[in-house]
Amino acid sequence: MGEQPSDDEYRTCSTCGRDCKPDVSITSDEHGVRIAFVCPEHGVQSIVDPFADQR
Ligand SMILES: [Zn+2]
Repeated sequence: MGEQPSDDEYRTCSTCGRDCKPDVSITSDEHGVRIAFVCPEHGVQSIVDPFADQR
């Protein structure tokens, strides 16, 4: 399917390449809910704002 899609990098561990698990429980603050993608081996890989496009 071509090159590695950059759209998926935020949920893929940069160290081991496996899919990270989304976790919303640690990222709620005054800016609203954000989703952290957590690798079970390497910890949080990225934090995304699922509503960024709606602002
Ligand atoms: Zn990893």
